[in-house]
Amino acid sequence: MRIWAIANQKGGVGKTTTTLALGRGLATLGHRVLLIDLDPHSSLTRAFNVPLDPPPAGVLELFGTPPAELSTLAHASTVPGLDYICAQGALATLERRSANQPGLGLALQNAMTRHQGQHDYILLDCAPTLGLLMINALAAADRLIIPTQAEPLALHGLDGMVRTGEMVERSRRRPLPMSILPTLFDRRTRAGNETLKQMQDRHGQRVWEDAIPVDTRISNAAGLTLPLTSDDYPGRGLLAYRRALEWILADDAQQMERAA
Ligand code: ADP
Ligand code: MG
Repeated sequence: MRIWAIANQKGGVGKTTTTLALGRGLATLGHRVLLIDLDPHSSLTRAFNVPLDPPPAGVLELFGTPPAELSTLAHASTVPGLDYICAQGALATLERRSANQPGLGLALQNAMTRHQGQHDYILLDCAPTLGLLMINALAAADRLIIPTQAEPLALHGLDGMVRTGEMVERSRRRPLPMSILPTLFDRRTRAGNETLKQMQDRHGQRVWEDAIPVDTRISNAAGLTLPLTSDDYPGRGLLAYRRALEWILADDAQQMERAA
């Protein structure tokens, strides 16, 4: 079972879109995939058309006593092989309410350890907040995927996220490979092209040499799952995500070889 955290301390950079697109791609390759929505704003949960009032069962229950099992919280989506777990708005106050409970930083990792063998990939869609939920995700992850908008202001956020990843890596003493995915790329703008180059200069091999282009088919799909799951007419955004997935899988294979 491989666990990928999709995170960036900046909002609106394509984290949820990336989670959906990579998850869908893995399921198409025949893998059993579980997507977990760790953002109180619940964009991923909404993408599966889940009614939010009353709030669905989900991630909050992993922090209960006793904690729920992933398998009881997972829903099957309309895409074969693609399951998901919902986020709830109340996750926003989890940190405050659980201040006195020790050990919560590993709640997610513990739940996933108990879940071994039931999914091949678990993808964690993180909120842009560096808090308890992101710490849980990074502690458990085998890989950190950082979608970064290809525009100059995003570079600081990227550096911050890479530093956070490196800090986690040092404290847990297990490698945390990072894959930086340039997103929302407009090749007609000079700013976009220059940002891409700067990302590569600063972060080298960790940066995908290609980029996910701006694609109106993706922006029009906000709040809907369907266009993101269309295999017949995917559009250039989703085609780029397929190439990104191949790059990540190749790097994963290399990493596992090194570890063996
Ligand atoms: P985050 O999860 O980082 O906040 P989202 O994945 O929700 O970001 O994306 C933010 C907005 O940008 C959404 O409305 C989404 O549909 C849109 N979007 C994401 N990627 C693309 C893309 N490649 N082309 C066009 N719109 C995109
Ligand atoms: Mg999101």
